[in-house]
Amino acid sequence: MKELKNIKYWLFDLDNTLYSGATKVFEQVDKKMTHYISSKLNISKEEARKIQKNYFMEYNTTLNGMIKNHKIDANEFLEFVHDIDLSFLKEDNQLDEQIEKIKGRKIIFTNGSLAHAKNVTKRLGIERHFDDIFDIVSADFIPKPSIETYKKIIEKYKIEPQYSIFIEDIARNLKPAHELGMKTVWIINDEPWAAEFSNSSFINYKTDKLSNFLKEINESR
Ligand SMILES: [Mg+2]
Repeated sequence: MKELKNIKYWLFDLDNTLYSGATKVFEQVDKKMTHYISSKLNISKEEARKIQKNYFMEYNTTLNGMIKNHKIDANEFLEFVHDIDLSFLKEDNQLDEQIEKIKGRKIIFTNGSLAHAKNVTKRLGIERHFDDIFDIVSADFIPKPSIETYKKIIEKYKIEPQYSIFIEDIARNLKPAHELGMKTVWIINDEPWAAEFSNSSFINYKTDKLSNFLKEINESR
């Protein structure tokens, strides 16, 4: 962990990274997407579900597939799918304490929306720590793991990749970050899609809990 003492830029994924996947927040978003596709395309939930998953696999986000194939209004989609109940998401005091202690710029890098990132971080009680949120709109709707989006975030915040770290639950999304010179951290989980490639050399660290990982760094510097 000592080798991380020079990190100046901290990039955090949002969903299933800043909070545990066990909270089922994303499950709600997932269901809302099915609902949206079903009513938009006037098809059954089952058919909508298949399209949703195919688009996710092919375009990295369902949204991107919907834009490319059905010319939907991206903002309408984002607003609809992120309108979920977050009341069960509790403040995370440990995470709050550890994020507070790390030094440098802290940025959320998500394929979701700005409003969703704000809602989630507010519930977790960690909203004030982040310098900015780079969402799917900032990425011009080109989702992770497209390397051009990583180049865009580097450019936007004048990030020096060798002094930066990216933390994320979907292993494949760490690859471009590593290629560009960042350190990478995978949040251990057993979602098949997210865990695929998790034994790759582009992953520098693994942790099952973000606050524990940050604590280790904070205690070693
Ligand atoms: Mg995630």
